Amino acid sequence: MSDEHFDLIVIGGGPGGYVAAIRAAQLDMRVACIDKRGVFGGTCLNVGCIPSKALLHSSAFYSHARNDMAEHGVIMSDVGLDLSAMMARKDKVVGDLTQGIGFLLNKNEVTPVTGAARIIAPGRVVVTGPDGEQTMSCERILIATGSEPTPLPGVDIDEKRIVSSTGALALESVPEHLVVVGGGYIGLEMGSVWRRLGAEVTVIEFLDTILPAMDAEVAKYMQRVLKKQGIKFRLGTKVLAGEASDDAVALALEPAAGGDREGLAADVVLVAIGRRPHTDGLGLDDVGVTRDNRGFITVDDAYRTSADGIYAIGDAIPGPMLAHKAEEEGIACVERMAGQAGHVNYGAIPGVIYTHPEAASVGRTEEELTADGIDYAVGKFPFSANSRARAMGETEGFVKILADATSDAVLGVHIVGAEAGTLIAELALAIEFGASAEDVARTCHAHPTLNEAVKESALAVAGRAIHV
Ligand code: FAD
Repeated sequence: MSDEHFDLIVIGGGPGGYVAAIRAAQLDMRVACIDKRGVFGGTCLNVGCIPSKALLHSSAFYSHARNDMAEHGVIMSDVGLDLSAMMARKDKVVGDLTQGIGFLLNKNEVTPVTGAARIIAPGRVVVTGPDGEQTMSCERILIATGSEPTPLPGVDIDEKRIVSSTGALALESVPEHLVVVGGGYIGLEMGSVWRRLGAEVTVIEFLDTILPAMDAEVAKYMQRVLKKQGIKFRLGTKVLAGEASDDAVALALEPAAGGDREGLAADVVLVAIGRRPHTDGLGLDDVGVTRDNRGFITVDDAYRTSADGIYAIGDAIPGPMLAHKAEEEGIACVERMAGQAGHVNYGAIPGVIYTHPEAASVGRTEEELTADGIDYAVGKFPFSANSRARAMGETEGFVKILADATSDAVLGVHIVGAEAGTLIAELALAIEFGASAEDVARTCHAHPTLNEAVKESALAVAGRAIHV
């Protein structure tokens, strides 16, 4: 047993866990952070946000070089693909960043521990690692064990022919036909990567829409744009089974509403139907930590579980499964432990899909406002009328601001366009500060920038956009 007694043991070194550990150390707690992966950074840095964005960026270069440069007068006559160099670059980005987390933990005097943790009692954690088993003791435990891909019954993942997002980030060659099961953001991002690199890509979605949680206008627009890029969609379709052989996968499909069964052949199938909390094997039932029927740990507004001294954050608890949500919760949770007033505004958490164009949103959708009977005004402005977007050749998409019809408070913002993920930060701030559309409209925005489309859209809420 380690004789060191900690104020806080964090289980899981993803963006929720390692950020909480650093913040707790800043607040003078003696902290250990345990991860079984061997490197810190969790899903996000190792097999999620970062490697996917590295590949999206690299594949966008390839696609631009092949398809878009000539329009700018740049002639590239011999564009080729070195997939192993692209993958090596992605691995280096991941390696550098995960090493950076190790450095930050050290700098903040957080004790890093490698191994799988199990809670045997409040304040006692057993870690099974490369050097055997050790028992650690502490005042409080924070569970930040994240999530894992949801399996699809009948379609067994082997990470070669039938892959999860982890396998899709490391394919050794460009598949001729990639079938993506699931029209959520992970499926669309990975589908975009491989489409740009030359694969035929078919997205199969059970529902009648892709991106079901997004504003419906955005989801529809995104489907149209991605279709133009050559991605095929089969909506309202159920995957019943998938049989992998050495060089192909045979899928069995049927209409979601019932009907004739049909076959579809693929070289690789990506199962991206969602993620589920990673909360098994932690000993939660034995120590009285309750979970909901989907396996998410239930917490109160201070992230306390049903067991004394045990807290939980990130993908392991309900809410959007996003790295920045996990980080915010980690910080709020340990600040509350320290008697501070940390909190997370769940109404102002942006969500971004890093396809081209990007789609980003914060706050409520039109469908949610309608369902709640809230009167709202819409201000919309297309990037085709934004001078910078035209100069860049990035005219697809729009900014849509939804504001309360009476108070003019910004309630929701939905952007499709180049750099939508960066543009949305201004609107998250607007919602956080309780700004009105007029506040955004009266803020001076630099010219020529894509952000001017945000200002114009805010002006459009009051029917006074200038450039349309
Ligand atoms: P995780 O990052 O999952 O970390 C949990 C850690 O806990 C893991 O390292 C795991 O090894 C460890 N662990 C689990 N059980 C134990 C145990 N018993 N003992 C010790 N360690 C344990 N989110 C975004 O915001 N933006 C994006 O662009 C984005 N892109 C994504 C792309 C892909 C392909 C995927 C898969 C996810 C993406 N996400 C993105 C989601 C994001 O990765 C997660 O929301 C985020 O990582 C959750 O953070 P977390 O700290 O809760 O858990």
